[in-house]
Amino acid sequence: MEAVSEAEATPGEPLCSGCGAPLQSDDPTRPGYVPPEAVQRETLVCRRCYRIRHYGEFSPVSVPPEQYADQVSRIQGEAGQVLYVLDVFDLSGSLVPGLAGLIGGANVDLVVNKVDLLPPEVKAERLADWVWSTVESTGVRPRRVWFVSARTGQGLDEVVAALSQPDVGQVWVVGMANVGKSTLLNRLAARLKGSEPFTVSRVPGTTLGLVRATLPVADGRSLAVVDTPGLLTGRRAIDVLCADCLRAVVPSGRLKPRVYQLDPGQSLWLGGFARFDFAEGDHQPVVVYVSNDLVVHRTKLERAAYIGEVRQDEVLKVPCARCRAELGEHIPHRLALGRPARAVERAVQRVQQGPPLLSADSPRGVDVVLAGLGWIAFYGRDLLGTLWAPAGVALDIRPRLIGDASAGDHAGQQTSARQRAFATRRGRSAQASGRQGRPRRK
Ligand code: GDP
Repeated sequence: MEAVSEAEATPGEPLCSGCGAPLQSDDPTRPGYVPPEAVQRETLVCRRCYRIRHYGEFSPVSVPPEQYADQVSRIQGEAGQVLYVLDVFDLSGSLVPGLAGLIGGANVDLVVNKVDLLPPEVKAERLADWVWSTVESTGVRPRRVWFVSARTGQGLDEVVAALSQPDVGQVWVVGMANVGKSTLLNRLAARLKGSEPFTVSRVPGTTLGLVRATLPVADGRSLAVVDTPGLLTGRRAIDVLCADCLRAVVPSGRLKPRVYQLDPGQSLWLGGFARFDFAEGDHQPVVVYVSNDLVVHRTKLERAAYIGEVRQDEVLKVPCARCRAELGEHIPHRLALGRPARAVERAVQRVQQGPPLLSADSPRGVDVVLAGLGWIAFYGRDLLGTLWAPAGVALDIRPRLIGDASAGDHAGQQTSARQRAFATRRGRSAQASGRQGRPRRK
């Protein structure tokens, strides 16, 4: 087994001789962590480098924004492509703020992870258009998008095939904390690994904890994987929740759709995290896709506030009082779907004030996505309402993912085929057609 280079460790200064991060025994989730019992050893590497080198195993570390920018912007001085890992269940929450500026002109491929959480009827490829445009709106111009589950291995064949190409020498893996970057790297490493052990070295010119793990891939070649720390902004809902609340919110298995036939004057609480008030519109089905462990509570509109204020712990269970305080107050967003959407938008254009508006007049229906929590599917019927959520839960709207037994499903299948082509070829004309009738977010 090749030794970790010690050449760059400054004498007297406790730095990891693998990645160069300052060594510390306080926080296992930060770069440079060494368990206290290992501090006495002569040649010190941090636990992360140790595990990669000895077991071929990547472990998650994260850093706050100031350090993150310093680390990831190193890619501009180096060759290599970027694997940008996103969480399908929290797409907006997994966008790295300012990434386009940090990586310059590097080639970017998107790896959309955790598709095992989607209900079986969802073809992940149908998300391609939504993912693509969401990422592009941040200034990042991806080349390809892959939908995978690092947990089950689903969809990884194409990623492995792409990384095995002879012209790929170095890959930077970037992503927010908790998107599954380490789980993915471990899967990929196991699939790519040749017969030799891994080596670990610092990325030249850094003392910050970027690890370059050289994987001897099959046929005598090697692939340098640069593992970057995950970004922890503290602004996502999941960043501020305690372990118990997190367990209820982050799905541990495939989502089971929960169907409600709603009339105006009814409300739905999603745990105590968010509430949908149905003010006006047709009687209609609404399907909620959230963690199977999260309570969804239907009530009358006039009782909804009372449930949230007085019976929260008893009925809605989470978030706990501490997490409620962290998340802050619920903010109202107007929701206008179907025919009222245009009228409401015109009115909003005239008077640019009041709560933010989520609107769409797509007859196929839309999903209103609550970042990190899940989504509510609406079926294209007329509706006016209000969605209440804390500021840390970003809201988004996209074409409805899941079809039904009617003609709408047929339309969905056509979309699926188009978007699959779109996902791999990325033609501008396909993109344009994919955007017709796109719901709007104001
Ligand atoms: P990192 O911080 O981005 O390195 O994330 P980790 O690899 O540590 O994963 C964060 C959490 O997401 C862990 O609880 C993982 O078990 C979970 N996770 C990772 N990949 C998947 C996946 O493909 N599907 C599901 N359901 N969970 C995943």
